[in-house]
Amino acid sequence: MPAILYYSTNARLSPDSGITPFRDCVSFREALLMGQAPDEGLFMPCHIPPLTLSEVERLKGKPYQDAAFLIASAFLKEDLSEDLIRQVVDDSYNYPVPIERVTDKIYLLRLDQGPTASFKDFAARMMARLMSILRPAGKRLHVLVATSGDTGSAVGEAFRGVDGIDVTILYPRNEVSPRQKRQLDTIGENVQAISIDGKFDDCQNLVKEAFADPELKDLNLTSANSINFGRILPQIIYYVWSYAQVAEPGQEIVFSVPSGNFGNALGCEYARRMGLPVRRLVMPTNENDEFPRFLATGEYRKVSPSRACLSSAMNVGHPSNLARFFELYGGTVDRTGIVHKYPDLEEMRKHIFSVSISDKETKDTIVRVFKDYNVLLEPHGAVGWRGLEIFLSQNTIDDPCIILETAHPAKFPDEIGDLLGIEPEVPPSLKEIENRSGRPIEMPASYESLKRYLREKGVREA
Ligand SMILES: *Cc1c(COP(=O)(O)O)cnc(C)c1O
Repeated sequence: MPAILYYSTNARLSPDSGITPFRDCVSFREALLMGQAPDEGLFMPCHIPPLTLSEVERLKGKPYQDAAFLIASAFLKEDLSEDLIRQVVDDSYNYPVPIERVTDKIYLLRLDQGPTASFKDFAARMMARLMSILRPAGKRLHVLVATSGDTGSAVGEAFRGVDGIDVTILYPRNEVSPRQKRQLDTIGENVQAISIDGKFDDCQNLVKEAFADPELKDLNLTSANSINFGRILPQIIYYVWSYAQVAEPGQEIVFSVPSGNFGNALGCEYARRMGLPVRRLVMPTNENDEFPRFLATGEYRKVSPSRACLSSAMNVGHPSNLARFFELYGGTVDRTGIVHKYPDLEEMRKHIFSVSISDKETKDTIVRVFKDYNVLLEPHGAVGWRGLEIFLSQNTIDDPCIILETAHPAKFPDEIGDLLGIEPEVPPSLKEIENRSGRPIEMPASYESLKRYLREKGVREA
């Protein structure tokens, strides 16, 4: 088999669309290092490698790394040696992945045991190791990210100590919580936080300007954002692994995935297309309801500006990975939310269910699930829970259902305290942060300052 190549979601646009389509295919390595196609489309694999049910069933009772090896090999075996793939997955996944059985049919997959207690650790850790291995020979890469909190810390922690890569994280001084600030400031080693006297938008603009600056070309700047296909691939793994743990051979399954930018849910979509028997992908959103409204009406309109909800990591008015979902169902939507071609709506409804969950329902769900099942959810997982309940109220399903809990309740002590009057136990990864020290570099929201910093750092290391 030749290696899988990657194309842009904008490739089929006509040049009259206002976008000059990128029509080349690139290797995994290029897709990983470029992050996004030159036409601002998202990279997609030209071919989705099949999984056989017996391969999946053999994962029952096996460690998570075995599933990671199976999926990573399916995509990368022509790009990386077996030994390197093994090394990547063993290094990436050194923490538990608990599955809790809540009722006969309903399971909770807790993706909150990584270093930043968020499911984003799964993708960021594997992408960091792939970038280190696939970086240009003899060169260092410099990852530059702007964050409003959680993504930056997952990326920073994922790259800490990874060979050949430096990381600079920009965050808005007055827009991160004290806990987030501490986490970002104290990562250490090859990871430096910069506290910007400005807003998140300022941080993003500074990063954009740096990427566009020809005078920084020699620094090999790269982004590690959520649209990189290197972050989608690892998100296929937990669907396959958890299916193998809970389903009977050949049984269908329902996944409920609390969704914001749709990268997580996309992992499930790919798992199904590889052959996993997924009856339905449930994608509840918070009050940013552009997608459930689209599935109901067939008309897409982004929510702008996005609404601030309790499940803050899902406050997204136009999900970046919607472009990939549209493409998989025969449509095209661009980065700005303009639909160039609508996808096959009937086909989408057959496989995907989506519903918007209000903040009130989110809170009620946290209270009710704790009371009824003694299960502690945080706001994102509660959206996933409520979405599944609504799906089950409209469909007769006998299959097992897995809800993804995407963050640890200890990351939301105030909300949980208000609702339940308890203090969630802090996992060791978050506790450890209390004992760390480190300082950010303080900087005004000025591109000249950032550029000077990046140049000096680049020169020091050369
Ligand atoms: C990022 C995030 C989400 C949303 O995931 P997407 O891939 O953007 O849909 C959900 N929950 C938590 C805790 C997150 O950090």
